[in-house]
Amino acid sequence: MSLEPWKNDPNFTQSELWQAVFASKNLGVFWKDCDRRFLGVNDYFLSYYDLELADVLGKTDEEMGWNEQVDRFKNIEEKVLEDGQGQITWGTTVARGKSRTIIAYKEAIYRERQIVGLLGFFSDVSQQQDRLDELSKEARRDSLTMLKNRWALEQADLTGQELILMIVDIDYFKQVNDTYGHQAGDEALKLVAEALKQEFGDQYCYRYGGDEFLVVGPVSQKDLREKFQAVQKALQDRQIFGKKVPLSLSGGYVQAVPQNEQDLDAMLQRADQYLYQSKEQGRKRLIGEN
Ligand code: GH3
Ligand code: MG
Repeated sequence: MSLEPWKNDPNFTQSELWQAVFASKNLGVFWKDCDRRFLGVNDYFLSYYDLELADVLGKTDEEMGWNEQVDRFKNIEEKVLEDGQGQITWGTTVARGKSRTIIAYKEAIYRERQIVGLLGFFSDVSQQQDRLDELSKEARRDSLTMLKNRWALEQADLTGQELILMIVDIDYFKQVNDTYGHQAGDEALKLVAEALKQEFGDQYCYRYGGDEFLVVGPVSQKDLREKFQAVQKALQDRQIFGKKVPLSLSGGYVQAVPQNEQDLDAMLQRADQYLYQSKEQGRKRLIGEN
């Protein structure tokens, strides 16, 4: 057995380690003086921005004009240079004409206990950011009806404007499931979602849960009532899997100018009470404030 001590030698030199980082094809490396002017960058950095070394040397980020959150990157670098604490930033930069998401790490460089500059690394995380954006969009939609969901409602800024908030609930929906099967029930939910979207527009419609839907938007009471009737009509005599399935909605609504989350919650509760009245009074109707 031949001895190959170098294979297992953990004592890599600093220069070997640095070379590995510097030659990386995934990591931008740069270093700056205390005025945040570039003193050097690696090849990946240059190819990422499609620049020559001379284009960058002596410049600040602001002079290069590539970062979209100018102050965020600047403040963090100033902090690193001031207190010597390493920092991580997530932001966007324009490289080769496109906005990209990067994560950057910065560390102070010391000489004889004095901070003399900073060493930075960045990597492109645009793909991860795109996936996050996609997931966050998906998380705001109900996967059955593709309407916005409760989470999207919580995220929406609905305060400070006159709004109508209507809750609708499918009448005797349990019977639809029991008589025609759960899959037919799912189809019925999709039909209701489609009809609401058709009349009110996707941006105002939410699946609130189960067989309950919300319409929230700057709609007049007259329009609301007309559109509610149009939805009822669209749901009449619909066929699901070749069978005629009776579908109707009951609804309750309020109109107000909510100033905050509590106001919105109060609107929801009042609309829900009107919905309850609609159910009590025989269903297939809309009752509201005024
Ligand atoms: P009411 O007229 O009083 O509203 O009677 P209802 O039978 O519709 O009663 P309720 O609204 O309480 O029933 C909701 C039913 O919706 C119960 C549940 O089984 C069904 N449901 C909830 N979510 C889904 C779903 O995603 N798919 C299907 N198929 N059914 C669902
Ligand atoms: Mg119901």
